[in-house]
Amino acid sequence: EQWRNNGKRIGIIERGNIVMPTHGRNLPMMNRTRLAQYYQYISKPLQGSLPEFIGAREVICLGGRTVFWDLVASRLVLSLLPDWPVPIRDMETYYDIAERVMNVTDEYAKGSTLTEKLLDRLQLGGFPESRYMPIAADLHPTKFGEVHADVFFSSFSLLAKASFLRPFDMAINARAVQMLVDQGKATGVKVMSPDMSSYILKAKTIVLSTSTYETPRLLLHSGIQGGAVGHYMTNQVFMLAPGKVNRKDFTDIPGTLAILITATPEKPYQIRLIGPSGYDWYPSSEEKPFLEELDILIQCFGKINPRYENRVSLNPNRKDEYGVPEIEVYFSFSEAEQAEIQKMVEAVKRISSVADITLGEFCLVPTGDLHHTSGTCRMGDDPSTSVTDQYGQVHGISGLYVADNSVLPFIGSGNPTLTTVALAIRTADQIAAQA
Ligand SMILES: Cc1cc2nc3c(=O)[nH]c(=O)nc-3n(C[C@H](O)[C@H](O)[C@H](O)COP(=O)(O)OP(=O)(O)OC[C@H]3O[C@@H](n4cnc5c(N)ncnc54)[C@H](O)[C@@H]3O)c2cc1C
Repeated sequence: EQWRNNGKRIGIIERGNIVMPTHGRNLPMMNRTRLAQYYQYISKPLQGSLPEFIGAREVICLGGRTVFWDLVASRLVLSLLPDWPVPIRDMETYYDIAERVMNVTDEYAKGSTLTEKLLDRLQLGGFPESRYMPIAADLHPTKFGEVHADVFFSSFSLLAKASFLRPFDMAINARAVQMLVDQGKATGVKVMSPDMSSYILKAKTIVLSTSTYETPRLLLHSGIQGGAVGHYMTNQVFMLAPGKVNRKDFTDIPGTLAILITATPEKPYQIRLIGPSGYDWYPSSEEKPFLEELDILIQCFGKINPRYENRVSLNPNRKDEYGVPEIEVYFSFSEAEQAEIQKMVEAVKRISSVADITLGEFCLVPTGDLHHTSGTCRMGDDPSTSVTDQYGQVHGISGLYVADNSVLPFIGSGNPTLTTVALAIRTADQIAAQA
């Protein structure tokens, strides 16, 4: 927006293709089952993730994981995170901006009896931090010729806006393989196409947003070796518990369940309640059957402290078809984190008891099969324990920035994406201010 009229050239290099030009939920033929199947088809197991990070997947397409994400856009509870690198006042400003551009709303399930009744039970039963789940969704109706078809947010929502502001270049099926740096300054990117032709694109400013796995890989492959590159990888313990609520407790149209229980110092877990299973969202083209039973899902997220030894590094013995070394992922839980799993089980049992939910069997999701992996190019002031400064610029290399989940130094038990977007907008403001 700030470079709207200054004639600077902006280019986007995307490795993948266009698999959906919007979030999957915006497509009339998609429902939850089909979108999950399509996600399995498009994503691939992450090379190098075995055996310690077994569930991790790579998603290569324009829009990245945001064309599939579940849209829960809550702020991190920064008071629970130590040494956050950006001043809290700045974070609040940029959270406000990110929420506005992503259309974050807590109106999505407001008024549905399923949400309202369970929220009452939880708030009265000792979980006052329960609230409507904030969802990145444009709920404005299409009216007076203005079409609001892009209901659920994805990176395409921002690309679309940009496309009406000013021209920019975009190459798809174009793989960035190396960052070019000369005397501490970014000078360009080496890019390859699937026919293995390579191109050098000159640039004074480069923003790497290729994911927590690929961004450190590209930095390391470019000879950018700072002590923390690839290290301090973090994610969350992720547990699922199916449940049932009594159909007779709710009106004939129970609506949608979307409740978020945010973490507190005493209960450092984030818990989501969603449902009814299969119909927490569904296309208007599909007829929703009468649900004789109300199945719901409780999702519980527990924090994993960032540790140096949990990391992504280059595999010296294996290269991919572009000649880029593959990665190896090393990951383990500490004993304290193992012990937390039992406490998470107890927390979910208490929730189900106060909310009158009959619980099914708990399931611990395989490590890595939660797309919150972060931290491999963490922000911070100290170059020995971080990769970028608080504006996302790689320490010691002017003009080279990172703006994806890899910059998040901590995520606690929260969702990463709103924070990544807020920090990315702050990085963009910094770049515009310096140009
Ligand atoms: C099913 C699902 C549900 C989720 N639900 C939530 C949620 O409710 N809340 C939440 O906060 N988060 C959620 N997430 C996570 C969220 O999608 C991610 O936090 C976010 O997309 C991460 O953005 P990123 O830029 O770090 O990486 P990505 O989204 O992975 O984007 C990386 C991009 O870089 C491209 N790329 C990779 N390598 C190269 C290369 N060498 N050259 C050029 N381009 C390259 C990829 O194709 C892709 O476009 C969910 C994710 C999934 C899959």
